[in-house]
Amino acid sequence: MAKQKLIIEVRVNEGAMRQNSPHVPYSPEEIAGQAVDCWRQGASVVHYHARDPETGAPSSDVELYADVVRRIRRESDLITFPTLGASMLPTAQERLAHIVEMAKDPATRPDCIPVDMLTTNLDWYDSERKAFNSVDRVYLNTTQMLTYLCETTAAIGVRPVSMIWDVSGVRLSEAFLEMGLYKDPLFCEVTLFGDRFVSFGHPATIRGLHALLDFFPKQADWQWLTSVIGGNPFPALAGAIEAGGHVAIGVADHPFKELGYPTNAELVARVVELARSMGREVATAAEAREMLGLTGGEG
Ligand code: ZN
Repeated sequence: MAKQKLIIEVRVNEGAMRQNSPHVPYSPEEIAGQAVDCWRQGASVVHYHARDPETGAPSSDVELYADVVRRIRRESDLITFPTLGASMLPTAQERLAHIVEMAKDPATRPDCIPVDMLTTNLDWYDSERKAFNSVDRVYLNTTQMLTYLCETTAAIGVRPVSMIWDVSGVRLSEAFLEMGLYKDPLFCEVTLFGDRFVSFGHPATIRGLHALLDFFPKQADWQWLTSVIGGNPFPALAGAIEAGGHVAIGVADHPFKELGYPTNAELVARVVELARSMGREVATAAEAREMLGLTGGEG
């Protein structure tokens, strides 16, 4: 049986600063420009955070978010996947406000948004200092908040993507499918974490990935991507390619000093080469839309 084609998501900037990687885009022009470069290399999904064009500070400015979608659609059919987390806004309403605004105009309505399926401490550990960077940061996602995000996005024609950080995220996604908050085929992202992130998440290894996949329901027709935050993703991405999943990569998750600080587009090109060498062809954005059941998308 032919292996299904590989969907590649590029995570262009997150909250990373140019001190980490010189290639982190800030302005809508930079974000969209890099996204289109990545699309030309084989990416079909772009995840981005709006940033202050000058300082790079996180922004929840609707116009910055919308401008990225407009610019991307002028040149490509990329699947747009903007964040909700400008800077850990406290309520679900605030986190989704820019998406609701963008969805009012089909020209700026994004395709999908992330829903983080857990509440957790969001501190990270510095093993050199033997201390945490902070000790009281809680990322709150009550069941009510998660329900609000799913129900509201469904009403405005935007697809919620289940972001699974641990095994209970798998179980919670099953419940949300049963409740009709998520639709089949489930579109989910399995996020693995580097060594600093000891409070949550699975290690960024093939074993860490499979510990999650082991709990996926046996008959499930889930379309899952793997991403890695804060560590070299290639071992886990190779594991995902081998296991029939999809992958996400970007300079903000890991600056790739070991590769001489490549650009986002260069990273996508490397993933394409890895996939082909492992016998997986790469999906176009149109093919990815079909596989993910994304019927919307005006661009
Ligand atoms: Zn993000």
